[in-house]
Amino acid sequence: MMNIALIAHDEKKQEMIQFTIAYEEILKRHHLYATGTTGKRIEEHTDLKITRFKSGPLGGDQQIGAMVAHNEMDLVIFFKDPLTAQPHEPDISALMRLCDVYYIPLVTNLAAAEIVIRALERGDFAWRDIVKQREGRSS
Ligand code: PGA
Repeated sequence: MMNIALIAHDEKKQEMIQFTIAYEEILKRHHLYATGTTGKRIEEHTDLKITRFKSGPLGGDQQIGAMVAHNEMDLVIFFKDPLTAQPHEPDISALMRLCDVYYIPLVTNLAAAEIVIRALERGDFAWRDIVKQREGRSS
């Protein structure tokens, strides 16, 4: 079971809903986390159970970033709106930076998400279990 973060900017929320409907069977076998509004919208349209953080502009990205920093997040699916300025751009950059620091797979659009979700299904994320077991032993 992987810990997966789902985030979608306002212009991409519909896309996220379609994505989670399409891959509900796969996603339901994992622990799902989301920023506030994204999580609410997904729960309204699917039977997925989601741990909801604060809304992105109010700190939700940073809460997810904190999980990344603890190496507790295995995948971040972040449908970013590339055409609209976001008030919390520094938080978004910080989250993406932490994903790079900790080698956490981060996808920022639907095309990449479709590839990664199939990889997840195929077992390509098993290495994350090894990383987490090692961390558990060393801490
Ligand atoms: P939201 O946050 O899911 O609460 O809208 C996402 C964002 O806009 O960063």
